Amino acid sequence: MGQLNAGVIPVTPFQQNCTVLFDTDDKTGVIIDPGGDVPVILDVLDRNKILPAAIWITHGHVDHVGGAMELKEALGLEIIGPHIADRPLLDNVESQAQRFGLAEARNCSPDRFLEDGDVVSFGSHVFSVLHCPGHAPGHVVYFNAVAKFAHVGDVLFRGSVGRTDLAFGDHETLIRSIKEKLLPLGDDVGFICGHGPGGKLGEERRTNPFLT
Ligand SMILES: [Zn+2]
Ligand SMILES: [Zn+2]
Repeated sequence: MGQLNAGVIPVTPFQQNCTVLFDTDDKTGVIIDPGGDVPVILDVLDRNKILPAAIWITHGHVDHVGGAMELKEALGLEIIGPHIADRPLLDNVESQAQRFGLAEARNCSPDRFLEDGDVVSFGSHVFSVLHCPGHAPGHVVYFNAVAKFAHVGDVLFRGSVGRTDLAFGDHETLIRSIKEKLLPLGDDVGFICGHGPGGKLGEERRTNPFLT
């Protein structure tokens, strides 16, 4: 069994961190949040000889799911996640795209929705699913306890938190998700987020102005 490794591909004008998680030995992996620029994602997978097992989605915003159906068709993969509460967003990816002036985004039909406490995996790497509403009602976070790693999507950023002024957003719910679900995972847990640099949960617990 190899190590869990991650590569980030900024996609769409929102510079969303499409993330490839993969095993350093056998190169199996998953693609999290292919929001767009699918040819770029395919090229990165190809050049690094990644063997993709599935597409995982954190939430239904266009910059995270706009390219999911195209990537699914290109690679023959299932789309897993988010929580079904994001179905109103997933069914309206194309209208979200029009609002933000993005081309080529498509509505998204996941093969499987996730619930809080579900377990997903690829190869020998196992992730627990945390339902963390607030930024989006069906937002999920993927947590790997062995590697002390979480992909937190747009729930938490370094020094900030997800915006809640979009449809279905709720700031108090978001802060509760972070304090009750994310921070208890441990100060030493590293995270990748949907935009910008990742960090450590402990650093956010101590210094993030939205949490203190
Ligand atoms: Zn978002
Ligand atoms: Zn985003």
